[in-house]
Amino acid sequence: MARFTSMEHLRFLLFDVHRVEDLFTHERFAHLDAEQAWMIIESAKLLAEQEMFPYFKAMDETPAFYDGKGGVKTHPQLKNIIQKAAEQHWIGGYASFDQGGMQLPEMIFSTGHHLFQAANNGVEGYTGLSAGSAGLILNFGSTVQIETYVPNIFSGKWQGTMALTEPQAGSSLSDITTSASPTDQGYYTVKGQKIFISGGQHEACDNFVHLTLARIEGAPAGVKGISLFIIPKFRPEPDGSLVYNDVYCAGDFQKMGQRGYATTHLSFGDNDDCHAYLVGEPHKGLTYMFQMMNGARISVGQSAASVAMAAYQASLQYAMERPQGRPAGEKDPTKPPTLIINHPDVQRMLFTQKAIAEGALSLGMECNRLYDLTHVTTGEEKQKHFLLLEILTPIVKTYASEQGSRSAALAIQTLGGYGFTTDFPVQQHYRDLKIMSLYEGTTGIQSLDLLGRKATMENGKALQLLAAEIMQTIQQAAVYPDLQPKAEALEQELHRIQTVLAHLFRFAGKGQIDNYLSDATVFMELAGYIVIGWQWLKQAVVAAEKLAKKDFSRNTQVFYEGKIHTMHFFFRYELTHAEACANTILQHGSLTQVKELEIFA
Ligand SMILES: Cc1cc2nc3c(=O)[nH]c(=O)nc-3n(C[C@H](O)[C@H](O)[C@H](O)COP(=O)(O)OP(=O)(O)OC[C@H]3O[C@@H](n4cnc5c(N)ncnc54)[C@H](O)[C@@H]3O)c2cc1C
Repeated sequence: MARFTSMEHLRFLLFDVHRVEDLFTHERFAHLDAEQAWMIIESAKLLAEQEMFPYFKAMDETPAFYDGKGGVKTHPQLKNIIQKAAEQHWIGGYASFDQGGMQLPEMIFSTGHHLFQAANNGVEGYTGLSAGSAGLILNFGSTVQIETYVPNIFSGKWQGTMALTEPQAGSSLSDITTSASPTDQGYYTVKGQKIFISGGQHEACDNFVHLTLARIEGAPAGVKGISLFIIPKFRPEPDGSLVYNDVYCAGDFQKMGQRGYATTHLSFGDNDDCHAYLVGEPHKGLTYMFQMMNGARISVGQSAASVAMAAYQASLQYAMERPQGRPAGEKDPTKPPTLIINHPDVQRMLFTQKAIAEGALSLGMECNRLYDLTHVTTGEEKQKHFLLLEILTPIVKTYASEQGSRSAALAIQTLGGYGFTTDFPVQQHYRDLKIMSLYEGTTGIQSLDLLGRKATMENGKALQLLAAEIMQTIQQAAVYPDLQPKAEALEQELHRIQTVLAHLFRFAGKGQIDNYLSDATVFMELAGYIVIGWQWLKQAVVAAEKLAKKDFSRNTQVFYEGKIHTMHFFFRYELTHAEACANTILQHGSLTQVKELEIFA
């Protein structure tokens, strides 16, 4: 069985770096201990290895496709996978016992999903989407809605989806036009088109629960007039029967990656008989949906890191087996060739991948820990975790998807020409990963969110809290002579980003919002390097502690040395890019606000 992730790394992150056991002291998670938690992760590994990974290539080669009759054909194994994942609580396991879940912390639930994402990321999309949509209904739906839909989604019989995008409204959801008219029977009738809807009406589930954004007739323009509806494909009637609800699947987009994962065009209300059930209050739909989208953004970030990890593992295995060329100093052609992993440039490519994938996974776990803490803490503590999560969410989504793509490209490069062929999985990883910087808000939109909203929220409180967290790690690292220079380097980067922010805030202060935001994506890149530098220093501190105490109970000496080495690599080869980003932003005058578009000719 090919290796698609590192269990050693997962255990290190889960127990040593992000200390999942601290959560078990809270009542909600008190039913768990470390041994049980790890057994749950091991069971996810088995599921990933036995049911998902074997179909990774086949689902790419026989993509989901439109059947011409309102449905989508999927790989025959998909139904079985969804069923098994549901039986093992990988759709509803995060929910509380009384809601039919296992009351798992997000840290554990998401680590299980990481294994699925690394094994077969398209297939994980179906279960992840269902988990997220059920969560949204649990939080904002009525008792009847919860009882009608959530158990069916948790059982894997029904698929949950999120239906936001329309042909004319992608990044700008304020422009959606799908309309909802109230009826005197309590439901609404809906009309409109939604495109790019993942997990839409495929053959592996019996029914579909589309969490749909629409505008109630007469609602105010913009985001303040958007409401959230449950729209099933087959609506449950009081007598228990299911009636077709006039939600027609008009097509399935064919894609460069994630080809086993249906991406549908849905048409609501062609026959004026599409019933929709309002969730929560009218006009608050986007606020509710943001809860699911925030979770989904962290999950997309983690998914990107997981695919980058799988590509790294595949290229590492290849580099360990492929003989080619001789060491630079070896002039004797009769000597046998060396393995490519012995060439410094191949090591550079492997370390870059390891630094990106493991660093991004660590940030994903940091976010999941913060998410759990927001649910078990109160007052100021809760608010602190919430703000930290708010600022880190666009960063994890963007760093992992943008740098993950670079990382997967390096996996191809590591294999040479073979990497470009379909005989090896790395080209599929590369193709699958590209979507992650597009859906759930493109990189451009995430960057506007980071600089335009998150950096300024509560007078910069989220940023201050993040800086304080990073400073704490810097202080812990400064105790170890080997780490101390890196602690200083990261502190210097913190000063640098503060200089950049001060420069940008001057534009904002003068009301020059275009200037303030025009380099938001470069700012995002800068923030990404610093935050991942923090995650690497954090890992290195734990590794240094383990080495100092000779505590090799969980991992080996070379594992910990590898962590510290990769941290050094990240600081020398990656964090140094931060200065270039800062210089780009600090230069006078914008080059990207040109009004004479002929310049592009
Ligand atoms: C495979 C796939 C699965 C998807 N799954 C779902 C799903 O399940 N549910 C769902 O609702 N949607 C889904 N989507 C839609 C996805 O979220 C959108 O494609 C995405 O939000 C971008 O919208 P768009 O494609 O219309 O691009 P546009 O919004 O037209 O953007 C085009 C470019 O312009 C940039 N841009 C746009 N506005 C701005 C701005 N104000 N400032 C700076 N730059 C800007 C963007 O960053 C991008 O680079 C999916 C899409 C794909 C391809």
